[in-house]
Amino acid sequence: MQQIKTLDELVEFQDSLNGQTLALVPTMGALHEGHLKLVEEGLKRADICLPYIYLNPTQFAEGEDLDSYPRTLDEDLRKLEQTGAHAVWLPSTEDVYPDGPKATIKAGQLAKPLEGQFRPHFFDGVVSVLHRMFTLSKPNFVMMGEKDFQQLQVVRHIVKEHDMPIDIIGVPTVRDKNGLALSSRNTYLSDEEYESAIELNKILVQFAQNMFSACETKRILRDCGFDKVDYCVQVNDQTFLPDDANRVMAAAWIGKTRLIDNMPMM
Ligand code: AMP
Repeated sequence: MQQIKTLDELVEFQDSLNGQTLALVPTMGALHEGHLKLVEEGLKRADICLPYIYLNPTQFAEGEDLDSYPRTLDEDLRKLEQTGAHAVWLPSTEDVYPDGPKATIKAGQLAKPLEGQFRPHFFDGVVSVLHRMFTLSKPNFVMMGEKDFQQLQVVRHIVKEHDMPIDIIGVPTVRDKNGLALSSRNTYLSDEEYESAIELNKILVQFAQNMFSACETKRILRDCGFDKVDYCVQVNDQTFLPDDANRVMAAAWIGKTRLIDNMPMM
């Protein structure tokens, strides 16, 4: 598996494509089966699949976990090699942000509720890095997880708004044997916290079946060991507003770990 580290190497890689289609898989590393599923789907969808690993500073606010975010590059490369990815892109911050790491693109209305309320810097950082990475690598497809459902829709919107000829492909959430959505941040959980974390999916399944109100669901989450629930809502998956709700979405804290999850309503 080729490692692309400079812009010259990226241009050479693109020249070698000779009209073959390219699927890009954006990641911040600390790879797990969820990320690898995106690569597998990318390999099915396009001739060539290019994952990248870049821990994007502009999507972390002061006091968030940028410094402690898990960095496992050697292991990540081993895992990617096993998927059959053709190459991996490991860009430098100088290449991603030639004028220094700043969010220069606004994420728009879809980014305002839910995650946007609790992490107001987040989506501007995400769309700024992705816009740059899409411009540099010119993919036909970009593989993204439904685990971060609002992010998926925000990025679809930005690609449309900026007339980028890219198909954003949503890949269903990969979960562990207890239903917990895989996340690089799950490594922060102690054994005891993990036992609470696995309740999130089960409780959301019931919320998605209208077995509880939003208020009751939040109380049940707290009773199960969640310290704080940022949001737990039924919304429409295009607008993220309550009208015509068809998806449940939640973000909640256990100790220092913030978990998010979502699923369609049944
Ligand atoms: P991250 O490295 O957390 O920025 O995630 C990179 C990509 O992997 C994003 O498109 C995520 O939505 C996706 N992803 C993360 N966790 C999962 C999961 N459990 N299942 C499917 N996709 C995921």
